Amino acid sequence: MSIATINPATGQLLKSFDPLPDNQVDAAIARAVDGFAALRRTTFAQRAGWLTRAADLLDAERDDIGRLMTTEMGKTYASAKAEAAKCAAACRFYAANAERFLADEPADAAAVGATKAYVRYQPLGPVLAVMPWNFPLWQVLRFAAPALMAGNVGLLKHASNVPQTALYLDELFRRAGFPAGSFQTLLIGSKTVDRILTDPRVRAATLTGSEGAGRAVGRTAGQELKKVVLELGGSDPFVVMPSADLDRAAETATTARCQNNGQSCIAAKRFIVHTDVYDAFAEAFVARMSALRVGDPMAADTDVGPLATEQGRADVEELVADAVAQGAWVPCGGQQPDEAGWWYPPTVVTELTPQMRMWSEEVFGPVAGLYRVSSYEEAIEVANGTSFGLGSNAWTRDPEEQERFATDLDAGSVFVNGMTTSFPELPFGGVKNSGHGRELSALGIREFCNIKTVWVG
Ligand code: NAP
Repeated sequence: MSIATINPATGQLLKSFDPLPDNQVDAAIARAVDGFAALRRTTFAQRAGWLTRAADLLDAERDDIGRLMTTEMGKTYASAKAEAAKCAAACRFYAANAERFLADEPADAAAVGATKAYVRYQPLGPVLAVMPWNFPLWQVLRFAAPALMAGNVGLLKHASNVPQTALYLDELFRRAGFPAGSFQTLLIGSKTVDRILTDPRVRAATLTGSEGAGRAVGRTAGQELKKVVLELGGSDPFVVMPSADLDRAAETATTARCQNNGQSCIAAKRFIVHTDVYDAFAEAFVARMSALRVGDPMAADTDVGPLATEQGRADVEELVADAVAQGAWVPCGGQQPDEAGWWYPPTVVTELTPQMRMWSEEVFGPVAGLYRVSSYEEAIEVANGTSFGLGSNAWTRDPEEQERFATDLDAGSVFVNGMTTSFPELPFGGVKNSGHGRELSALGIREFCNIKTVWVG
């Protein structure tokens, strides 16, 4: 994949970049090593000052960086600006809380025959971050903010279709005041990832992206015995039970499926509805999906912009065509318009069967699968019946059922009567093929720390 900005709304190539040659990749790793030596000696207060300055820059430059993201990957301008604001908030959160999250933790010294015993959290060193294009600022910030506060340094290999956002991030941390080498963007293709990961100077890796990329990076990290966090795909269930507030559920379902033009790992993708309320929910949901405005992502009244890449749209089309060929029904959407740009309309697919690829694969576009179930047990069986386990949603006003869903849904998060989202205050990650490790919260910042036991006799 070439490293280039191509506007998904027009298909026009705007700017392309040559990948960094190997000798410059090596030089960047050397700078990261020096950067780590400098950063680890700074105080939490210094790092918090720089990260707060990064937050100020993100707030001040929200419109410009928002426009750039919309141009590179097609998300609506409003959502791009909201993403920049969320990044600023996450920076402030870690600036305020990192020292507390990483403070020495005293243990019961007497129980281990010591005069003093405690746990100390220390940074690991240069961490490679392989990131996707769908939230091109947020995915990086949610790694970088805690990593930098812990004293680690970052090497970013961003997705090849968001190079200018990647370069903005490189400059952001430098302008905020972090020592040279603390955070660097490397404009490289995915084939160069192994070269970096096998370099002994690089101590760990994090990857957000597809299952295939996760397996590739996980395999190398395993061979190299390096810590790795993997945030991979999902096909989140959205279960609607008879006691649910159907209007709110249908409204939230529409947002949950079509946010970010349908390209979110934690988008609800499979809508599993109890037969008692299936017809009412389906009618309300299809009406809302059909009413969404598809168009210029820069326009204020657009709900859904184009898909980010031509290949991404072809993948979505293929999954819907496969379902239709095997007897699925499409009450809305399903036809891509014949015009420049990678548009795909909000689509609902019903009558799905396990033989159809949509049953088990992730659809990375605004396409919802609707499933009818006749009991709580069947809802759980369908919800847990894929290889993914990222987020999950359950709609019920029955307190006992809420607790059952919280326990029984096989996923990294369960949102009851709401939409899966991420907060700096709560851990984020998946189980099964959705990956392992956690980002955000106190748990996220500790992923790239040496959790050191100190025992004093
Ligand atoms: P992708 O193709 O896996 O790309 C993600 C990143 O990995 C890019 O930087 C890509 O580089 C790189 N990459 C791809 N193949 C690689 C390989 N074999 N070795 C090393 N690096 C490799 O994913 P995508 O299509 O851009 O993003 C969509 C996927 O990401 C979906 O499955 C989505 O659910 C998942 N996702 C998960 C989360 C989460 O938090 N769990 C968040 C967002 C997205 P190039 O661009 O150069 O190919």
